[in-house]
Amino acid sequence: MLAKILLVCKALGLTFQQIYTHLSLALSPRLHRLTYRSVEHPRNVVVIGASFAGYHAARCLASSLPTGYRVVIIEKNTHLQVTWVLPRFSVVRGHEHKAFIPYGSYLSTVPRGSYEWMRDTAEQILVDDYGRGKVQLRLGEAIDFEYLVIATGASAALPSRVGVTTKREGLELLTVEQDKLAVATDVIVLGGGPAGIELAGDAKSRYPEKNVTLVHSRKSLLNDNFGPTLAKRAFEELVNVGVSVKLEERANVDSIEETGTAKCIGQRPNSALIQALSPKSVSASGHIRVRPTLQLADSTLDRIYAAGDVIELNSIRNARSAFEQARYVANNIVASIRSKKQAEYSYRWWEGATKLTLGLTKTVAYMSDGSAEVSLSMKGKEEMDSSMIWRFFGARPFVDETDKVD
Ligand SMILES: Cc1cc2nc3c(=O)[nH]c(=O)nc-3n(C[C@H](O)[C@H](O)[C@H](O)COP(=O)(O)OP(=O)(O)OC[C@H]3O[C@@H](n4cnc5c(N)ncnc54)[C@H](O)[C@@H]3O)c2cc1C
Repeated sequence: MLAKILLVCKALGLTFQQIYTHLSLALSPRLHRLTYRSVEHPRNVVVIGASFAGYHAARCLASSLPTGYRVVIIEKNTHLQVTWVLPRFSVVRGHEHKAFIPYGSYLSTVPRGSYEWMRDTAEQILVDDYGRGKVQLRLGEAIDFEYLVIATGASAALPSRVGVTTKREGLELLTVEQDKLAVATDVIVLGGGPAGIELAGDAKSRYPEKNVTLVHSRKSLLNDNFGPTLAKRAFEELVNVGVSVKLEERANVDSIEETGTAKCIGQRPNSALIQALSPKSVSASGHIRVRPTLQLADSTLDRIYAAGDVIELNSIRNARSAFEQARYVANNIVASIRSKKQAEYSYRWWEGATKLTLGLTKTVAYMSDGSAEVSLSMKGKEEMDSSMIWRFFGARPFVDETDKVD
């Protein structure tokens, strides 16, 4: 009980930390404008991937790099794709567009000339004897870098990830998923991670008449990084709404192509660029191995950092930890430019705080500091936190000027 009270107090303390973080996020680019000057041939800090890790790293860098440097962001997607609404929007119609946040507004307050955006795919990294190098892009250009940030995340298909680069294609695919579910009598969801749990709960709440089965290979839902209470809670809630949960079972994924089957398994880290450059920096699971400073494990590549879902991390992977890592990476690059000491990142308990939807109207917030666990039931909105996340990235919900030209 005491441990639980302590955890609640720590969580309340975090609120102040969050306020401070938001304030400094808002102020730092504006203050930086007072001293940063755009120059003709700046040195590049290249960020590959602009989702939760890369977009945030780019913002922190553009708010702190000294004059003479700029960020070059290489991102293949037209929009920031919000992952956690995808299972919901694969079931429920009318909100799909909210999963695609137009890029740009998160960088609207940084100094002029502090960044350049390139919509392209990074295909190869070439490094010289001093650890500087070039990123070869699919459309032909090669971009020089002084420092490089790999924030390429992970890939999968719907309902876990969009799996295509444009909003237009993404909207079409979400509609296909909704149509598949609408006509199916039996819905089979493979994988009892967050995406599978959310999809199964939503499908059963939206279509109570359908048989919804969730198949998971482990003894309990979720994986070991989530605490036992959340797994138990998810199991009970799903059973309550009428989902049939089959644990310790495996389906032959490749042979299943039925209309009502959703595969919520097999996210692959996008580490091919590093695999080609430094195979020893990639683990057996395909994640990039980093030092506590978030530089690659390979000590000959000190100028290359990585953050987010692509790195090896024995903890919950989520946007919060991607943000924290991005902040460390940006600070460490600026420290390196100024010949200062690198800070060491270590995962902290609050980064793993989780919100899990269990059907269309119920959400469970969960956190654990290793000594105690707290879970809280809340009412959820059909669009989930879409408006909030748009606002966080400086975008007006749900105004998208690119719709006019796309
Ligand atoms: C279904 C689901 C639900 C989730 N729910 C939550 C939740 O509720 N809360 C939470 O905090 N987290 C949640 N997560 C986890 C969260 O989405 C990830 O931790 C987060 O997306 C990681 O961000 P990232 O920037 O590391 O990588 P990603 O989001 O994977 O982004 C990688 C980016 O890199 C780009 N890219 C990749 N390769 C290249 C290349 N070669 N060239 C150019 N660009 C490239 C991609 O286009 C993409 O934009 C959920 C994840 C899933 C799948």
